Amino acid sequence: MITIDGSQGEGGGQILRTSLALAAITGTPVRIEKIRARRPKPGLQRQHLVAVQAAARVCNGHLEGAELHSREIVLTPQAPVAGTYVFDIGSAGSCTLVLQTVLPILLCADGPSTVSIRGGTHNSMAPPVEFLQESFLPALHCIGVSATLELERHGFYPAGGGAIAATVQPWQARVPFDLQERGKAIGRRAEVLIANLPAHVASREAQAVKHGLHWSHQEVDEREVDADGPGNAIVARLSYANVAAVFTAFGELRKNAERVAEECVKQVREYVGSEAPVCEHLADQLLLPLALGAGGTFRAVAISEHTRTNAAIIARFLGEVVTITGDGLVTVRGRT
Ligand code: ATP
Repeated sequence: MITIDGSQGEGGGQILRTSLALAAITGTPVRIEKIRARRPKPGLQRQHLVAVQAAARVCNGHLEGAELHSREIVLTPQAPVAGTYVFDIGSAGSCTLVLQTVLPILLCADGPSTVSIRGGTHNSMAPPVEFLQESFLPALHCIGVSATLELERHGFYPAGGGAIAATVQPWQARVPFDLQERGKAIGRRAEVLIANLPAHVASREAQAVKHGLHWSHQEVDEREVDADGPGNAIVARLSYANVAAVFTAFGELRKNAERVAEECVKQVREYVGSEAPVCEHLADQLLLPLALGAGGTFRAVAISEHTRTNAAIIARFLGEVVTITGDGLVTVRGRT
């Protein structure tokens, strides 16, 4: 049994997700203590509880302590099992983070799987669906992963009600990763998503993004989407020959449209003003797949506390396989 201190480093939900996935894949029982101790509402929130239950389901595992607000759980896994899975978060909790918990496990299963998840699809502090579709999954494709993701319905905080559907093939040829240069710039595009809010919110945001980035009318779209409640996000993407970067700013009650646009503009400008291909979020999310595959090297714009903490959790199960140097160069030793 491996015991994980959930209060270390970043002290949030990612410690839980990475530990669950590694326990299921390596067949090692895990006890996770002090869950999300560094968050204002510690313990398992609905999204985390569903992630725990989902991880146990896809490896036929036995769970102890899996209740709302629980601060300690034990997972005793069996082997990953392919199947058709449906998970309902029952709140606006992030579908994509639940998917990120089960995806690595199902990659190691004995056959193809489908996973449907209901909840939030565009949540602050979590990857939006577009990030997984356009940045994360294409990076995984380079290491031999075959998985697809569809957005069936948008879900925003607080109403939720969104839905995603993924397919995951068993991971066969594991290919080393190498992403140190962006390559030639291919295109850029921003989309203002809006649901059940006045149209002027979207047009003000689109205007502010065009102005702030000096992007043309054709490069910034406004799109009204169906959702259970109000919602707003700006998704900006920059495509290069070797990588796609996706940046998101989220609308919130009492946050004005210009401020949402400014948050998007700032992220895009920072990326454009640097040279490394891998954004801060992609960096922390790539570590586990690389460690489970054939490893590799990438250059990150920034190394976050999430990335360092994820490396520390991976080390508990697989040894010190991640090396990070001062200039953002990350090397991961793989299992194959
Ligand atoms: P907690 O409430 O404990 O913070 P959490 O489960 O929501 O829990 P974190 O541990 O903070 O999550 O992990 C959030 C994950 O979402 C990280 O992998 C981070 O890189 C990713 N993420 C956050 N914002 C974005 C974004 N805008 N684009 C892509 N990924 C994001």
